[in-house]
Amino acid sequence: MILGLKSFLLTGCPATGILSFVTTLICSYLLRPETFKRSTTRRQVPMKKFDTRPHRVLTLGKLYLVVCTISITICPALRATAAEYLPGIEWEEPRQVTPGKNNQDPPSDAVILFDGVDTNAWNNAETWSVTDGFLIVGKGMISTKETFGDCQLHVEWSSPLPAEGTGQGRGNSGVFFGPYEIQVLDSFENATYFDGQAAAIYKQTPPLVNVMRKPGAWNSYDIIWNTPHFDAEGNLTEPATVTVLHNGVLVQNNFELLGDTPFNRPPRYRPHPPDLPIRLQDHRNPVRFRNIWVRKIAPIQGKRTQPPTLRDEKKSTKRPKKG
Ligand code: MG
Repeated sequence: MILGLKSFLLTGCPATGILSFVTTLICSYLLRPETFKRSTTRRQVPMKKFDTRPHRVLTLGKLYLVVCTISITICPALRATAAEYLPGIEWEEPRQVTPGKNNQDPPSDAVILFDGVDTNAWNNAETWSVTDGFLIVGKGMISTKETFGDCQLHVEWSSPLPAEGTGQGRGNSGVFFGPYEIQVLDSFENATYFDGQAAAIYKQTPPLVNVMRKPGAWNSYDIIWNTPHFDAEGNLTEPATVTVLHNGVLVQNNFELLGDTPFNRPPRYRPHPPDLPIRLQDHRNPVRFRNIWVRKIAPIQGKRTQPPTLRDEKKSTKRPKKG
């Protein structure tokens, strides 16, 4: 009984106290069964003195240590599995979105910017051409009629075959979010400055790796764009960040832009609305595009309803109601 009480006080776990008590009873019975005889018998036959032979005392001592060790080790684990962490936030239910048949196909909530035929999503598209389902660079940049802030953009592009020109003059175009360019360039065995090659944030950072396919083959960009924010006075409060996968490989990992991406001066931020057109660049190279779609993205909303807590199964703390 005393051992059970000690274990309970040590671990704070009633189960441990009971476990220790029961284990001690069993051990005691095995070692001194006469102790457990009926009381009438005990009155008639006086109990023997406690067996103080060294090996008995040693065995009991070992058992005591084993029971204490097991109790103290097991009980925290039992308590941990019995508790559940509750963040205390009531989340909105994520919207249902049907994915495309393949991952490059637009999901159900995508805005289709080019499906192989229709260029109505773009301004100035009449100066570009559509051939065999491909949108080919023409005269001047094209820009989406709709504006976008934070978004996920998928675009596929192919540099000309046969390859012509060198450096920045070979298969050059660009995907722009407002004034911020993710470079499009034929970077297959085509030397140029690294922060100007394919998938670079132009003049700010090279891609992490070069994943360029051969000229004429199709490349894909999957871009996660977080637009910059400015306060009422026009001061930057949150820079733009971008993540890019080139042919499924991560090449920009949440890069924080320094500003816009011009050729002839350092980058800088100038205040603008969060939503801007997406643009494709004319750099006098007949780069082809296909399968362009974009999804507007927004953080999931949650409301704190209680402080973070641990729910004890035995005390049956109520879960927050479903939102
Ligand atoms: Mg370019």
